[in-house]
Amino acid sequence: RNRAALGTPKVPNVKWEDVGGLEEVKKVILDTIQLPLLYKHLFSSKLRKRSGVLLYGPPGTGKTLLAKAVATECSLNFLSVKGPELINMYVGESEKNVRDIFEKARSARPCVIFFDELDSLAPARGSSSDSAGVMDRVVSQLLVEIDGLSDNSQDLFIIGATNRPDLLDSALLRPGRFDKLLYVGVTSDASYRERILKAQTRKYKLHENVSLLSIAQQCPPNFTGADIYALCADAWYHAAKCLAETLEADPSRNSEASADDVIVDIDDFMT
Ligand code: ATP
Repeated sequence: RNRAALGTPKVPNVKWEDVGGLEEVKKVILDTIQLPLLYKHLFSSKLRKRSGVLLYGPPGTGKTLLAKAVATECSLNFLSVKGPELINMYVGESEKNVRDIFEKARSARPCVIFFDELDSLAPARGSSSDSAGVMDRVVSQLLVEIDGLSDNSQDLFIIGATNRPDLLDSALLRPGRFDKLLYVGVTSDASYRERILKAQTRKYKLHENVSLLSIAQQCPPNFTGADIYALCADAWYHAAKCLAETLEADPSRNSEASADDVIVDIDDFMT
């Protein structure tokens, strides 16, 4: 009956270097998650465990990417759920889905659960229009599960992401729950975009004339990481297509060619 489909959590493959900019956020998130893992004996029971980090800000700014990078960096299995996926019209199913998620994460420890679109899973109680009170029960179940984490060992974490933190049930933000709020947003300065460009083209062969700073300066100031990703992907595609066309004219070279021969010239592509 339409249970939330859960894949097997595994350690992702997103490196720190794949995340451009956001240095402050990276630092805080590492201190919150990595430090207690590395120094278990220091962060033991005396202190109320900090289980959750909430990343908030506009879409496409790197929240999901960041969560994956933390998991990779700390060798944590990554269990990703989108809020709406857990909501089910059948009575009791949504709460069961929430319980299943935590159960799955416990059996995959060390693990981080990433709740994307958290606002749709945990809206302020009393605000939903569903008459059966499904959403309110889901929120309560989520709180029970999160509170259960602090009794547990230190190797289960939750990271939430939302564009609308104002819609969340406020109980979620109390100490011991998602009590570390980190803003992930767009910065208008060009060096921020340059750092994202650098991260994203790290595996590209760039044309020697490419200046990432000058490209960053040409981008609109409200460009997000996702916009920059689209630009880089288009530039790469354009370069690959040009190479394919040359090979078409000279088929004898085709068998030796590989993706490494694709030289990306973003400036050329932008003009
Ligand atoms: P949403 O709120 O829509 O879920 P999000 O903030 O989680 O958005 P991501 O899914 O992390 O955004 O970003 C989308 C894509 O944009 C990433 O896969 C990545 O390619 C690129 N991107 C976004 N931000 C950055 C960044 N800071 N550095 C490098 N790439 C980025």
